[in-house]
Amino acid sequence: MWTPIAEEAERATRVLHPKGREIPRPVHRRVLTVANQKGGVGKTTSTVNLAAALVKYGMRVLVIDLDPQGNASTALGVQHTSGTPSIYETLLGEINLLDAVVPSTQAPELLCVPATIDLAGAEIELVSMVARESRLKRALTSEVLDQLDLDYVLVDCPPSLGLLTVNALVAAEEVLIPIQCEYYALEGLGQLLNNIELVRAHLNRQLHVSTILLTMYDGRTKLADQVTNEVREHFGDRVLRTVIPRSVKVSEAPGYGQTILAYDPGSRGAMSYLDAAREIVMHPLHRGASR
Ligand code: ATP
Ligand code: MG
Repeated sequence: MWTPIAEEAERATRVLHPKGREIPRPVHRRVLTVANQKGGVGKTTSTVNLAAALVKYGMRVLVIDLDPQGNASTALGVQHTSGTPSIYETLLGEINLLDAVVPSTQAPELLCVPATIDLAGAEIELVSMVARESRLKRALTSEVLDQLDLDYVLVDCPPSLGLLTVNALVAAEEVLIPIQCEYYALEGLGQLLNNIELVRAHLNRQLHVSTILLTMYDGRTKLADQVTNEVREHFGDRVLRTVIPRSVKVSEAPGYGQTILAYDPGSRGAMSYLDAAREIVMHPLHRGASR
């Protein structure tokens, strides 16, 4: 019979040596923007932990921190004090994106373009710039992406629908929306979907909501199930079957500059992000022969 400790050890082994090596690299590189203008729904937590999980499956991943708070940079153990070459200088066209890319402390295959507090001014500075909505797209040239040999790019958005988020939506093909399993979860979602539709109509025909991830699920509450059902009814199979549980460990990890996969590989949080990443990788549209 399994004891809890044996169970945890078994889970840790699965995380550290996932049976995922047979997973092919995507046929085409995938750029996903993680967006929801609602604050604190798990955008950053999902971005960094999915990125770390994708790396466990053998992918090369770049996280672009597009939030002046710099939370994704913190969680990946990447320096982001003011003046560090970052996404800010990249958007302004002062440096090449390559000059801002640094490896995370998590793994050499997990790269990050950090965000510094300087980015806070960008929403306003960008307004008067040429092609202000396409600055990120222009920086993410295929030469740059090829040189980094990336499979996935994940863009962590700030909690607003301003120019930074618009830049992220123009630069990606896919949007991943994290939804917190709580009251008011769906409030504001219509506005987000409208914006996505506007960007699709005018700036980026490829853009679509490919993935919905339910986060901070608390199985003890009826409400969590109600929200889950409602989201599944509305978005159908775009909602990942895996749901991220509410867990203290998940919220502690960034304090150590770590993802949950490094901080506590045997935890349910780590397993759930690994499962969610696997579902994303196995998306029928993107499954294909190895590159
Ligand atoms: P913002 O809109 O400010 O950028 P966000 O959408 O990026 O926020 P996070 O920063 O990822 O959201 O999460 C908000 C808070 O909830 C953080 O303190 C985080 O540690 C915590 N949190 C995220 N996911 C979980 C989880 N599964 N269990 C417990 N706490 C979580
Ligand atoms: Mg965030």
